[in-house]
Amino acid sequence: MIRFWRQLRWQIIGAQMLVVIVGVVTLSFAASALLERTVPPDQFIAVQATVIQALALAAVAATIAGLTTSILLVQAILRSLRSLAYSSQRIAAGRYDERVAVPASDELRVVAESFNQMAAALEQIEQHRITMIGNVAHELRTPLAGIEGYLEGLIDGVMPAETDTFLEMKQEVRRLRRLVDDLQTLSRVEAGQITLTFTTFDINEVIRRVIAQIQPQVLDGCLQVICESAEQPLLTRADPDRVAQILLNLLGNAVRYTPEGGCIIIRSAMVDEQVQVKVEDTGIGIAPEHLPYIFERFYRADPSRARTSGGSGIGLTIARHLAWAMGGDISAASAGVGKGSTFTLTLPRG
Ligand code: ADP
Repeated sequence: MIRFWRQLRWQIIGAQMLVVIVGVVTLSFAASALLERTVPPDQFIAVQATVIQALALAAVAATIAGLTTSILLVQAILRSLRSLAYSSQRIAAGRYDERVAVPASDELRVVAESFNQMAAALEQIEQHRITMIGNVAHELRTPLAGIEGYLEGLIDGVMPAETDTFLEMKQEVRRLRRLVDDLQTLSRVEAGQITLTFTTFDINEVIRRVIAQIQPQVLDGCLQVICESAEQPLLTRADPDRVAQILLNLLGNAVRYTPEGGCIIIRSAMVDEQVQVKVEDTGIGIAPEHLPYIFERFYRADPSRARTSGGSGIGLTIARHLAWAMGGDISAASAGVGKGSTFTLTLPRG
């Protein structure tokens, strides 16, 4: 019996019937009180019979109307609920393209629309997952094919077993290691699992440290690095190691994508109550059609060039997630191919 009343259909029908019963009983009491006061005793029986007949007719009509409306209501609600249950089972089974029909009633429409939004978000996540696996496989294939080629060459005697060959192989292994490290960092920043140690520090000092760190590559590329930051401290509140990681990535890219004899300028300033660091280069620039995507995982404006220079295409994705986690942001701008690029990192002031 309790199970029976747990069903929504019986609850709605029961509620409607209760209203009918209470209505009829109240009306009967009211009618009998009225009759006793107003009808003369000789006509009482006849009038009472007529009133009882009218009340019985009203009770039957109210019951039919109550039953019909509650059945229609129950059907509409149950149809939507069944459709939701069916669709969620299909989504659970991996059919992420599943959507439910949006009903006319406001409340059910909100539920159906929320459900469809959830399904769309799940579909997008699944799509990202598939693309990610494809990208990782693709990225792994290149260095692995390189190592395999060297090994086959060594086995067949086509390649000499000399230091140079092993150094080339080491280069490919290093590329693999960098990719694996980057992937691990990416998964952790995207899951928000990076532990950040917030302190107030001088960003100009971190900039100078990063420039010193990148000096060997700068010399290799015959580049000029100009630091236009002020001498006095520019305080920011963030994790200094992560800020250094971001700047190293931006400077590393500037070095990588700037041809010999080019120039890299770093500026820091307080803009709109935020600390801003601009890394500007006179390098190959970024075409407008690539610009919106360069922060996406594995996106490279020029895949062949980036890959030969060891770029995994996820450095900027990591950098932007780190900046977000510290309450900041990174944006990119470029006047076009061959016209250099500017990356701007903003962080909260200290
Ligand atoms: P990668 O490891 O390939 O450099 P990133 O995520 O750091 O990966 O950068 C993504 C892409 O953005 C690069 O492949 C390159 O096409 C473009 N890019 C990044 N920085 C610069 C820059 N300073 N100049 C030109 N292109 C750049």
